[in-house]
Amino acid sequence: MVKRMIVKIDEKKCTGCGKCIAPCAEGAIKIINGKAKVVSEELCDGMGFCVGICPEGALSVEERYTVEFNREKAESQPKQKDTSIHCFTCGAGEDTSYLLPLRHNMQSMWVCTRCLPKLIHG
Ligand code: SF4
Ligand SMILES: [Zn+2]
Repeated sequence: MVKRMIVKIDEKKCTGCGKCIAPCAEGAIKIINGKAKVVSEELCDGMGFCVGICPEGALSVEERYTVEFNREKAESQPKQKDTSIHCFTCGAGEDTSYLLPLRHNMQSMWVCTRCLPKLIHG
């Protein structure tokens, strides 16, 4: 066991919408009985990429004792493609663009690196 950052899911807030599944490149989150669950803590690197995606604020990252992150196993997980992931400005998908998660007006969305400078500089 090591002390490190790892995702925490507030089941009371989670609606089971599944939006956090595809953004987790390690495949650590699955929906079980209508709630998001970290299926294996060794798959979660604690980077918190999923946190901004959750529309309910059910995800956070905390420091606690858990198993070490298993990079090899995480990288060998089947990748989940989600066609709902696309730039909210130009519509580009992850096949052709680099996408970043974004929050605005209580909404979670994606933006591509080409459209991001326009948002930053206006
Ligand atoms: S995005 Fe949030 S509400 Fe949706 S399944 Fe994941 S934790 Fe639950
Ligand atoms: Zn774009």
